[in-house]
Amino acid sequence: MCGIVGYIGSRVATPVLVEGLHRLEYRGYDSAGVAVLRRGRITVTKAAGRVRDLRERLAESAPSPATVGIAHTRWATHGEPSDRNAHPHLDAEGRIAVVHNGIIENAEQLRAKLVADGVELVSETDTEALAHLIAAELATAPSLEDAVRAALRGVEGTYGLVVLDRTRPDELVVARNGSPIVLGVGDGEMFVASDVAALVHHTQRVVFLDDGELATVSAGAYRTSTLDSRRTSKEPTTVDLVADDYELGGHSDFMRKEMYEQPEAIARALRGRLDERFATAHLGGLGLDPMALRAVKRVKFLGCGSAYYAGQMGATLVEELARIPADAEPASEFRYRNPVVDPDALYVAISQSGETLDTLAAVQELRRKGGLVIGAVNVVGSAIARECGSGVFLHAGPEVSVASTKALTNMTVSFAMLALLLGRVRDLSAAAGQRIVTGLRALPERVDEILAGESEVERIAKRFAHARHMFFLGRVRGWPVAREGAQKLKEISYVHAEAYQSAELKHGPLALIDAEMPSVVIVPEDELLAKNIGTIEQIRARGGPVIAVTNADLPDGLADEVIRVPRGEPELDPILLTVPLQLLAYHTATALGRDIDKPRNLAKSVTVE
Ligand code: GLU
Repeated sequence: MCGIVGYIGSRVATPVLVEGLHRLEYRGYDSAGVAVLRRGRITVTKAAGRVRDLRERLAESAPSPATVGIAHTRWATHGEPSDRNAHPHLDAEGRIAVVHNGIIENAEQLRAKLVADGVELVSETDTEALAHLIAAELATAPSLEDAVRAALRGVEGTYGLVVLDRTRPDELVVARNGSPIVLGVGDGEMFVASDVAALVHHTQRVVFLDDGELATVSAGAYRTSTLDSRRTSKEPTTVDLVADDYELGGHSDFMRKEMYEQPEAIARALRGRLDERFATAHLGGLGLDPMALRAVKRVKFLGCGSAYYAGQMGATLVEELARIPADAEPASEFRYRNPVVDPDALYVAISQSGETLDTLAAVQELRRKGGLVIGAVNVVGSAIARECGSGVFLHAGPEVSVASTKALTNMTVSFAMLALLLGRVRDLSAAAGQRIVTGLRALPERVDEILAGESEVERIAKRFAHARHMFFLGRVRGWPVAREGAQKLKEISYVHAEAYQSAELKHGPLALIDAEMPSVVIVPEDELLAKNIGTIEQIRARGGPVIAVTNADLPDGLADEVIRVPRGEPELDPILLTVPLQLLAYHTATALGRDIDKPRNLAKSVTVE
């Protein structure tokens, strides 16, 4: 789930490893550790807390000149975050060190069996079992890779792992199943990581492992094979990411940097995809010709967290522009409810990282049942991108902050193009299509305008930052916006926020309204304007403070605070109305002294259940 870094070459390994961990910190974690190998001895250093705690601990002893090692940031699934449970884990002899991302599902049985065999387990983790199992296999296996392969045969669950053997200083063995592993090919040195972010300042030549694949990595070479011993051949690909993408570049944190990258990210998503002449969009990656697009009778968006809310915005866009039924569902619910897969539906799997486990599982379920599924992902080469084989690439650029901003925006922008395309092969007129094309083109500038109003949103955020609870209310186009706004506030400020459809308020939650319960009401300039004004009046009549987020001209004094958004094409309003809510959450969290990029308990890409 969290971070893995490995190094083998001629440099001193520890600083390379710790620096790599530092670059993965954005993913969220609770402890960190490193193991290096020199002269037949593995030295492990671990610390609960931050990478800087690990650095301090490392500084307590003489630096090791070792040139091979592995490192990890952990996001606990089995056993509390502690020094003891932090990775790397060793076998009883201290021969094997393992770092692991993911969850071993049969850990309890494996651990019980090891204990029955007389092994003394020192941690509560699922991972430690792997170290003992691999060590046991080494007694008979001809190579470390074979030992790892044999051990993994009895393992159920997800893993990205790296193994170090004190008798083999010239190699690392890595394996992947459901948790990403990428190799970085250097000049006489090799890197391993769970995320290219840890590699790109060393090399841009990378090899993504597939699920069920292993690799043996030495300083000058790598060799890949499958769990069932078939050799695979993988050429390095060049990633066009640079270290800058993962650096703050003068911003106080990544969330702010990424909010400000939105105009540019939107422009990138639109580039080459809008067709003025036919008033439509080109999404070549879909692999669907007009006939196939016409055959789509329904669209279903699947995602988790903000991706799910983006899907809901997408569903509204598809219904409005293409007039075909569309909805969104959390991928986790979909995968577990034995879904009825509609042969006439187009399913869209949404994930920034492309590694979200619940979404990946939903895709696999769909494919197994013969459903037509495309991906909407931001990371090329990711598991969902590969599993789907076709889709819309989001072009948001690397998103580091746990709280999604530019990726979410680009999801919605991409769905607007998808909706336009589906609409234009049906009954959406050229004039209406042209209006959407023009509206899309204007988005970067409009987002810039919203960002220019940051200080006003900051003032409002500070005014309400003391609130313990908040409502976010919207209807139709405003409803997913409200949900995403509440989500953003919850995740980074820890203020309890609840989203409701405005009309539902009177069916229960209105009882909660008082002077201590501010409501953020999303008010697009559309046919529901009068209804939304009515909602605000109802809340104010009960003493509840209201912050209206709107592109309409509201009567003076209607709301306590008004956050203004520029007007665009009404169907695209959700995209613009979401942006000030990012700023609102951001400044509430800042006022409360929260760690913006590392919200508690959260990780960037959720590759566990
Ligand atoms: N399941 C392992 C543990 O709890 C690894 C978690 C992770 O992905 O960091 O230690």
